[in-house]
Amino acid sequence: MKVLHVASEVAPLSKVGGLGDVAGSLPKALRKLGIDARIVTPAWPGVLDKANELGSNLVRLPPLLHISLQWHVMSSKIWKTIIDDVPIYILENSDLFENLPIYPEELTGESALPFAFFSFSALDLEQKNRWVPDIIHCHDWPSALVPISLKWHRFYRDKNPRPMTFFTIHNVAHQGIFPFHVLDEWGIDTRSFTIDGLEFYGHVNLLKGALITSDCITTVSSRYGKEILTPEMGYGLDGVLRKEKSKLHCVLNGLDPGWSPVHDPYIPFPFSAENLEGKKHCRSVLLQHLGWKDNMAPIFLSISRLTMQKGYDILLPALDALREIGIRFLFIGSGNPIFTSALYEAADSHPDNFAFKHGFHEEFSHLAYAGSDMLIMPSLFEPCGLTQLIALQYGTVPVVRETGGLADTVRDADDHPDGYGFTFIPYTTEALLKGVRRAINAYRDPFRWDGIVKRGMSKDFSWKVSSQLYQDLYHRTLENKRR
Ligand code: ADP
Repeated sequence: MKVLHVASEVAPLSKVGGLGDVAGSLPKALRKLGIDARIVTPAWPGVLDKANELGSNLVRLPPLLHISLQWHVMSSKIWKTIIDDVPIYILENSDLFENLPIYPEELTGESALPFAFFSFSALDLEQKNRWVPDIIHCHDWPSALVPISLKWHRFYRDKNPRPMTFFTIHNVAHQGIFPFHVLDEWGIDTRSFTIDGLEFYGHVNLLKGALITSDCITTVSSRYGKEILTPEMGYGLDGVLRKEKSKLHCVLNGLDPGWSPVHDPYIPFPFSAENLEGKKHCRSVLLQHLGWKDNMAPIFLSISRLTMQKGYDILLPALDALREIGIRFLFIGSGNPIFTSALYEAADSHPDNFAFKHGFHEEFSHLAYAGSDMLIMPSLFEPCGLTQLIALQYGTVPVVRETGGLADTVRDADDHPDGYGFTFIPYTTEALLKGVRRAINAYRDPFRWDGIVKRGMSKDFSWKVSSQLYQDLYHRTLENKRR
């Protein structure tokens, strides 16, 4: 079985968030099951250098890809490398893929060209490469034009053989919404612009189109799979999702095996649930790095995109109260300028309690996970969340809002004897503070805390089960096609 993953970010080559982690790790797990899984991704700045450094045998395939867009022919070079046994095709066009951050602030026909080009490339790649996928597996709106084109593009709709399409929703809030004129520019039949097609309140909605045209839809946790069917959390697409429910499946994301404190090259001391000495040393190194005293005051980590989704509007008003309890907070992230300046201000005025690392710090994040005591994740919604899964692996106890994947993966230690985290439900600062206070009470009892940490570390959040679920879904979808 041959499966091509179409991913706008792929760790370790490029990463903005969890989608990059999943696109990097799922194909690897699928290959272990005997599936010929490959990836196609753009050469954002730095990607080819990373591929050269990490992959084996980075080679340029001789032909160029030519794609017709905005009544022009645009071309890219195709590079191929193999990272951790997974073949990756990297598309190089310095005009198109020069953006960092990868996702533009404002979506226009122009700013979306990289994604349109990259989606069409996924359909054309086989002609240059003589490797014909049975299934094309797309991730979020940047690759939504793949299934849409197989139905409505002026020539891809006649593609023969037609691959089956999978579409994974990593976040239903990001939909790829554009003005009507893009359809013509992209070669999409404007007759698709109906209420049962791409039309969404007078605009073109790529996510909606992908939900309608894909053969199979998946999303990344069971709880989120239910939530997106409701008007409160479906971001306007709950009706479409309810209609397409028979092809919607929930498969929990897994973690890359590289996220392990036993053999993580980026942490100074390895450790495991059996021997937590190394975690204590990592904690000391982290404290030293931050210029904080090595004492028992707990260290909370918050690492994420600074957006409304991640709960900063209930977390920031809690900072004074948290400081009074004597907690220390390390924030890592970038995004919304209001949250950014509030975090700078907190760190400037109370440097003994708050530290803020602005930006994306992949390597440092490993030490932060290993050296912190707790992770805070008060998300408004969370499709799956990999951050809490990584924290659990590294013995860092999550305090999370019970929503989406956080609800599916974190069990409250006060409510369940086998619990290994702390959860709260209302989306309020008060509920968050209650959750944190309960966590601190547990932290003050070293014997109990040790049990909580170790139970969390022993949870299996690998791809073992989930990759098999994908394999079953692939088989079933191909079987249906044959019938
Ligand atoms: P989302 O995909 O919504 O951003 P997830 O929890 O699914 O959130 O995944 C976030 C991933 O990105 C995790 O691997 C996390 O460690 C990483 N990450 C987020 N922000 C940063 C940052 N500022 N620096 C380094 N890694 C980050």
